[in-house]
Amino acid sequence: MSEADVGTAEAVAKGNCDFDLIIVGAGFAGMYMLYRARGLGLSARVIEAGSDVGGTWYWNRYPGARCDVESMQYSYQFDDKLQQEWNWSERYAPQPEILSYAQHVAERFDLRRDIQFNTRVQAAVFDEQSSCWRIGTSDGGSHTARFCVMATGCLSSTNLPDFKGLDSFQGDTYHTGQWPHEDVDFNGKRVGVIGTGSSAIQSIPIIARQAEHLTVFQRTPNYTVPAHNGPIDQDYVARVKAEYPAMRARAKTMISGLDFEPNMASALDASAEEMQAQYEAKWAYGGIPFLGAYGDLLLSEKANDTAADFVRGKIREIVDDPEIAELLSPGNVIGCKRLCVDTDYWATYNRDNVSLVDVSGTPIERITPAGVQVDGREYAFDAIVFATGFDAMTGTLLKMDIRGLDGQSLREKWAEGPKTYLGLSIAGFPNLFTVTGPGSPSVLTNMLPSIEQHVDWISDCLAYMRSHGHDRISPSTEAEAEWVNHVSQTADLSLRSTCSSWYVGANIPGKPRVFMPYMGGFPAYVDKCDAVSANGYQGFALS
Ligand code: NAP
Repeated sequence: MSEADVGTAEAVAKGNCDFDLIIVGAGFAGMYMLYRARGLGLSARVIEAGSDVGGTWYWNRYPGARCDVESMQYSYQFDDKLQQEWNWSERYAPQPEILSYAQHVAERFDLRRDIQFNTRVQAAVFDEQSSCWRIGTSDGGSHTARFCVMATGCLSSTNLPDFKGLDSFQGDTYHTGQWPHEDVDFNGKRVGVIGTGSSAIQSIPIIARQAEHLTVFQRTPNYTVPAHNGPIDQDYVARVKAEYPAMRARAKTMISGLDFEPNMASALDASAEEMQAQYEAKWAYGGIPFLGAYGDLLLSEKANDTAADFVRGKIREIVDDPEIAELLSPGNVIGCKRLCVDTDYWATYNRDNVSLVDVSGTPIERITPAGVQVDGREYAFDAIVFATGFDAMTGTLLKMDIRGLDGQSLREKWAEGPKTYLGLSIAGFPNLFTVTGPGSPSVLTNMLPSIEQHVDWISDCLAYMRSHGHDRISPSTEAEAEWVNHVSQTADLSLRSTCSSWYVGANIPGKPRVFMPYMGGFPAYVDKCDAVSANGYQGFALS
């Protein structure tokens, strides 16, 4: 049976589908979609590749993994009792605690009974005659459903570069995004870490404390600001819980979907003293709000330079060896790639057992049986950690063989970059929804409110269709083209689109260079989605 030739012949012949809804993925998006589908009285099945819920937080178990959004905001808000009763232990929750939270939600709402674990979706094919999606899975099974919701996450397909000799290495290899469930002990080991993105920046300080020697291979230095993580302040928790809905409402007015107070003034209008004080205050507060120091940091390169200079100064202050400090200092726009948030990252390079290898000019030549070879020199290791990121936003969707009307494949349709209407739906692929898909603000925002907004929108749409007697919805190619154009024009307004990041697919050889997330901000995006639904699903054909 070919990937495209899946389905339950009987159901197709009857014109009925096995389920109202198939949801792919049991991370925060898939779980909430299931909860809402049940609330609508719809039959739903979730298909999940992992052995449990949690998505990102199920797979990314590397040492030091934690969220860079503060715990009190990185949580569901759909159920007030849940947000009142759950207690976070740290300002930034560590991965095991976020995974426990996901597991708690699954238990609390009895979600697991509708989730099929350890099963990967390989194909999703729309059958025009029956109007069912036919979903083919890795266990050889198939199910049909009227609607299919891709809740597959934005950073869920790991990127392992095609290094020569990759399989020849005799030691242990790990990818941060596919970390084993068992404890990994680096004590007394020589460890190499490839990459200096968020995953590396979080894991390097911890691995350095365990390893006999740690060697970091850096291709591009990265900006990071301190998390100042610690036990969560209980007075703060009490204050937030006393006004949780108000805090959530404030967050929704913010471009990032995060409740914090940005300074909208221009960096270029500040005196040197004011600027220093402002950046020091933001540095002392810590985390992503550093980029809210001034309103034009992502709009003007001159303004951005002031923040970048400040961070480079901090690197020189913290790192003892001036040559290492220089190597660690990024030269590009701060915040262009996702800003990292760390605990003790720069200081780790002061340790005697840590060395840095710059591979910007002399790329890694090969992986050898003993280690990593750069510029003719072999570095020997017991273990190599690939912190080399993800085929972001489109990778997971395109791994599946998704086919819409006339057998058109999504791979063909997106050959020059993703095209969606609102990052929620795709012309030619009826009754298919993507949660936080390309073309939505997703990764530029706090993911949890963005997920909830999408799932709520999809749920409202399903309810509307039922009450109006519709069983098919598909965006028009015109509405989609207009949205794609708007996403691209909006991206051009910001410095974020100017560098080689995973936002533009630059980390994956051959991937089309398109700025994938929507830069217009959470409030503008929500207004657009709300206007579309208020106007009878403007831009969609319903039948
Ligand atoms: P990433 O940001 O894409 O970083 C990958 C690293 O691997 C980069 O330093 C990259 O260098 C390097 N690399 C890739 N291929 C290489 C090669 N052939 N040779 C040498 N180096 C190579 O991936 P990530 O660190 O996993 O983070 C991805 C995203 O996940 C983050 O931006 C963030 O949105 C999210 N994340 C969030 C958290 C959090 O919430 N705290 C934690 C981890 C991740 P180049 O820069 O030169 O390409």
